[in-house]
Amino acid sequence: MNPVITKLTKFIRLETERGFDDRAVVGGLGRMLEPWQAEAATAGLPGPLIEAVISRLRDYGGLPTNARRDVLQGLWHRLQQVEPELEALDPLHPGVETDTAAAQAEAIEAEAVGVPSEDEPADDATVRAGSPSMDSEAESAEAQTSEPPTPEKRKPKEQAPSKEPPAAMNAALTTVQGIGPKSAKTLAKLGLETLGDLLWHLPRRYDDYSQLETINRLWYGQEVTIIATVEKIEVRDVRRGRMKLTEALVSDGTGSLQVTWFNQPWIVNKLQPGRPVVLSGKVDQYLGRLTMNSPEWEPLERKQLHTNRIVPVYPLTAGVSGKWLRKVIHSVVQRLAARVPDPLPESIRSSSKLIPLSTALQQVHFPDSQEMLRAAQHRLAFDEMFLLQLGVLRQKQEWEHVETRALPADQAWIDHFKATLPYQLTNAQSTALEDIRRDLAATRPMNRLLQGDVGSGKTVVAAAAIGIVTSQGAQSALMAPTSILAEQHFRTMTTLLPQSAGVPTEQIRLLVGSTSEAEKTEIRTALASGEVKVIIGTHALIEGPVQFKELGLVIIDEQHRFGVEQRSELRSKGDSPNLLVMTATPIPRSLALTVFGDLDLTLLDEMPPGRHEVQTHIFLPTERARAHSFIQSQIELGNQVFIIYPLVEGSENVQAKAAVDEYEHLAKEIFSEASVGLLHGRMKPDEKDAVMERFHGGEIDVLVSTSVVEVGVDVPNATVMLIEGANRFGLAQLHQFRGRVGRGSEQAYCLLIPTEADDAANERLKAMQETNDGFVLAERDLEQRGPGEFLGTRQSGFAELRTAQLTDVRLIEAARGEATRLFEQDPDLSQPDHRLLGEALQRFWTPEKGEVS
Ligand code: ADP
Ligand code: MG
Repeated sequence: MNPVITKLTKFIRLETERGFDDRAVVGGLGRMLEPWQAEAATAGLPGPLIEAVISRLRDYGGLPTNARRDVLQGLWHRLQQVEPELEALDPLHPGVETDTAAAQAEAIEAEAVGVPSEDEPADDATVRAGSPSMDSEAESAEAQTSEPPTPEKRKPKEQAPSKEPPAAMNAALTTVQGIGPKSAKTLAKLGLETLGDLLWHLPRRYDDYSQLETINRLWYGQEVTIIATVEKIEVRDVRRGRMKLTEALVSDGTGSLQVTWFNQPWIVNKLQPGRPVVLSGKVDQYLGRLTMNSPEWEPLERKQLHTNRIVPVYPLTAGVSGKWLRKVIHSVVQRLAARVPDPLPESIRSSSKLIPLSTALQQVHFPDSQEMLRAAQHRLAFDEMFLLQLGVLRQKQEWEHVETRALPADQAWIDHFKATLPYQLTNAQSTALEDIRRDLAATRPMNRLLQGDVGSGKTVVAAAAIGIVTSQGAQSALMAPTSILAEQHFRTMTTLLPQSAGVPTEQIRLLVGSTSEAEKTEIRTALASGEVKVIIGTHALIEGPVQFKELGLVIIDEQHRFGVEQRSELRSKGDSPNLLVMTATPIPRSLALTVFGDLDLTLLDEMPPGRHEVQTHIFLPTERARAHSFIQSQIELGNQVFIIYPLVEGSENVQAKAAVDEYEHLAKEIFSEASVGLLHGRMKPDEKDAVMERFHGGEIDVLVSTSVVEVGVDVPNATVMLIEGANRFGLAQLHQFRGRVGRGSEQAYCLLIPTEADDAANERLKAMQETNDGFVLAERDLEQRGPGEFLGTRQSGFAELRTAQLTDVRLIEAARGEATRLFEQDPDLSQPDHRLLGEALQRFWTPEKGEVS
């Protein structure tokens, strides 16, 4: 755990024990804030976390006891978000024994490891199959307390860019001395099936015990390793015999120290008086004297795997103890790491200052120093990012290779288009139009991402692109994620295109789920013959048996959920059509270079004039009535309102039901004078469309909806967006909702109601008040929830990076630079010293397919 956080938890714990008297720190908790803030900033704690701590504790001293308790509880939950291990230590439910959690954990360790016997070779795994480590009792006990599982981990074997002769890397785990069939089965639960898997099973974190200390120099809270001699050791029963306490007194000539273990009575046999021992752990105190509780220990002559070094901590599963896994991995690393060939060419290794792969593997498991650990992690992260960039760039290359028909537009055409619009394009829109015009005029297909915050006016840019393509006689397909959006685009296009681009209305058609079969058939025929030039619909329209005469342009709206592979699939439907992807989700630069790294980027970083910033307010659940009366007043002014209700975990059915219930309540009891409409994902497309139509036309004052209105919907007269259960949404998504209002000239409001009053998650919502900048929110969202959540789907190759961070722009740029240079030299990686790299690339990019959502 980050020491700065550890420090904080100490204060919280102490303060809790003292009954929140604000005496845990001399002079009050407030006194520690300034120094703590400085330390936290130095330690690189995320800014929002530091802010969260400071803002909670600032007024602590002035609060009544109850409120103090709540504040600390909230803070503890907040800390748990970053340090899941804290769960077991929660001091706010102390129960009878504060050390229960530690005691249990130790008890498990003892049972799981079994009693290592004295004569076993030091560097080999020492647990045999069928040993106590696989006891069902230990298994169930460990299941409760072991470290959190990490289901998002990619299966190591899919990614390990290693080239050990298959015989060794693919050997079964049972070939390791100490792993029997039963242990192998348990490890398989972690996705560990071969030696290679173990080699690539990387530590989750490290405990640094490499600092040797003498007993007289120990201080409370320090994490240390000492070498001492056992003076005295004994076991006694505590808690009416329910627990055994092993107590030892050790000394090293400078002083002596009390050491305690819970439920590991057998330690008595291992650490007899007079024997030297290495102890690693945290210095604690009991009744004013320094102690160590449950330190890692080893008799001195053993090779010091667990102590006196930087100790790796692995993701665990039930039935496997950390200590045991460490031994097993150690023997595998010793056996294999040095033999792993390095796929990175020497030139790249030296220009990017990377250590050899085999060294990195050794050091990432058993680092000699913090510097080596960092170098090892950097090397492994670089490899991942490098392979990712190679894949993305190769994809880009492939697309740029093919030729399409040039679709030029002359200046007169552009001028006419602009002149006939109901408004003047913003500079950003004009630039975007130029980018697209240039792309279309070239013979390599356009691959462009048009990224613009909600309301920045992407649709008209799309219309221009369609207009150009149509003017050259080719066809366009515009795909939206929902039929509501498709309808809306259809309305916009049938307004804009005929007057500004000379496309006859009858050449523009809509194809959604509710379109009758007869009409669908008619449309398909007309697409095949080329009579229909512009088709608008959900993306089902190119999944079906649709034939185009000449599909020149595919536009995907609001689809931040498509990954590289899905785009590739879409493109294959036409004959290398031009592609324009539009997204309102501001994509952080890091993602723009990775997930969207195959696309050229155009930014709409300017809003059309005359927009007011939406005012955002957070209401607690107890203040709901106030929110409702505010809405009532807006309705009386003739404005319209969205109420998003609520995002329930689970099926869409559950969501729909929640929305229906709420709708009835609102319609009958709260806004009985107004016209209230309902929209949810379970409704038939034509029902949805009808409701949307009525809302658009102003017949409905209040639209109660599930998250189906998240994207794109444009109702300028709507001025209030109320979001229930706001804490359950990501910031980027909330920003999308908020973007549904404030599209007209009236001041608009976004009201957020979280599910609970004192939920740590509410902290996040403050960001919505602080900024209207979608980029800032997207960055925070990415930071808080990780790319998998952020993108809304698991993107193969992206969400599951193990060492590299998708937020690490510097690493991304470095890797991209090297990848670009490499491709310039050797576009198909055919040179002999790039062969291993080619194979690693192949492996990296052939995992499971990401889902298209
Ligand atoms: P988004 O980028 O979120 O898709 P839209 O294309 O739906 O945004 O545009 C939002 C609103 O702004 C629409 O009502 C559109 O008519 C209007 N709009 C677009 N461009 C301009 C402009 N240059 N000046 C004024 N209004 C504009
Ligand atoms: Mg839009």
